[in-house]
Amino acid sequence: MPRKTKIVATISSLKCSPGFIGRLYKAGMNVIRLNTAHMTRDDALKMIKNIRQVSDKIGILIDTKGPEIRTCDNDKPLAVKYGDTIRIKGDPDKRSKGKVVCVSYEHFVKDIPIGSSIMIDDGYIALAVMDKDDKYLICEVENDGVINARKSINIPSVHVRLPALSDKDKRFIEFAADNDLDFIAHSFVRNEDDVIAVQKILDRKKSSIKIIAKIENSQGVENLCEILDHAYGVMIARGDLAVEIPTEQIPLIQKKIISTCIEKRKPVIVATQILHSMIESPRPTRAEVSDVANACLDSADALMLSGETASGKYPEVAVRTMAKVAKEVEDKKSSFINVPYTLENRITAYLAKAAVKASLRLNTKAIVADSLTGESIRALAAYRGDNPIYAQIYDKRVMRQLSLSFGVFADYIPRDITSQDSLNKSICLLLDDKQFKEDDLIIILAGNFGIKQGASYIEISTAGNFKKKCT
Ligand code: PGA
Repeated sequence: MPRKTKIVATISSLKCSPGFIGRLYKAGMNVIRLNTAHMTRDDALKMIKNIRQVSDKIGILIDTKGPEIRTCDNDKPLAVKYGDTIRIKGDPDKRSKGKVVCVSYEHFVKDIPIGSSIMIDDGYIALAVMDKDDKYLICEVENDGVINARKSINIPSVHVRLPALSDKDKRFIEFAADNDLDFIAHSFVRNEDDVIAVQKILDRKKSSIKIIAKIENSQGVENLCEILDHAYGVMIARGDLAVEIPTEQIPLIQKKIISTCIEKRKPVIVATQILHSMIESPRPTRAEVSDVANACLDSADALMLSGETASGKYPEVAVRTMAKVAKEVEDKKSSFINVPYTLENRITAYLAKAAVKASLRLNTKAIVADSLTGESIRALAAYRGDNPIYAQIYDKRVMRQLSLSFGVFADYIPRDITSQDSLNKSICLLLDDKQFKEDDLIIILAGNFGIKQGASYIEISTAGNFKKKCT
């Protein structure tokens, strides 16, 4: 059985040759993430061209900056010690200088109350806000370290009034639509309005790019259900999340977000620091292996690598390691989940569940289904059955979007006179390609009344019998 948990790999414009991307793909990567916080439009164009050159099956996810605050550029990094006093100013156009750190949000001083904690660089340095005047927050440093330029700033439990989208985000969303990308991962989603703001731009562009909401603060966690009503899927962005919310709460929040997403048939990605030590080392720590395995046991659709593949010394080894751990868990433990039906089309919903249940009872080898929008395929994936789902898809972008869904292996099939003809042809190609044994049982989920009507039957038989229909 092929590995069912998907792998998202972040790459940077400094290392994005077709050769490198091809090696990551071969190692098991399914989706590539481009992080717009660190790139120009030209960088992105070059990377997209190289990715498409390797395969038209690789999903491309572009990550916005979202409503985030960062330290401004500086003349030189500021070394601080426990107990030092520094001042913070909200001024995106100024450089940090001496003991004054400028940050990219102009209302920073007004919005942050005295008594708050400020975390810089994913919590590497903590500050306590002791006082403020019109221009500055007066802060005490809580641990030794260095404050560098363009580092993240989090203020746990404080709601700042940043707009959902910066101008750069808007330009990148339009860019994504113009270049037929597959996903936009929108950062710091706090509620449905943040998702709707992105969707409005996509609608103006008549784009079917899907939105992945990055859950990285307490508002995002609290408003998950309304966010899921508008987003295609979710990324559990543990880097920022574990700064905004006490770290010890993250494992259970991860489990809750994953189970909610599965119930709503939304792909869910677990992100950040999964194999962090592999940025420098060819072998993961024991704890990291357990983290990968645990995310698989939680039944996440996909796991994401960040620095490990974007700037690390062992990118392909990191992808291979992740793939091996996931496969081991999948082979040893059935992950079937008896989720309730949710599809509007009740017949497709019922047949999808019946197909997965039949696959478990009859020990079948594959489920094959065709789809226009991918909805019925995601319905199948939600049950986390043991069989691979070979999705035969009539749209190339939908095919790539399914690269994020658990256990789905999508192929593009051109529409013939009838979808039944197309499906029969693609089943024959699949039987040739996957080398099933004659008596391997296979399940087909399809419809007899036009693709728009959805599924109307399940057929179960041996590969040998299906092959006879091909000649
Ligand atoms: P980032 O998001 O890599 O854009 O910071 C992921 C996270 O915060 O975990």
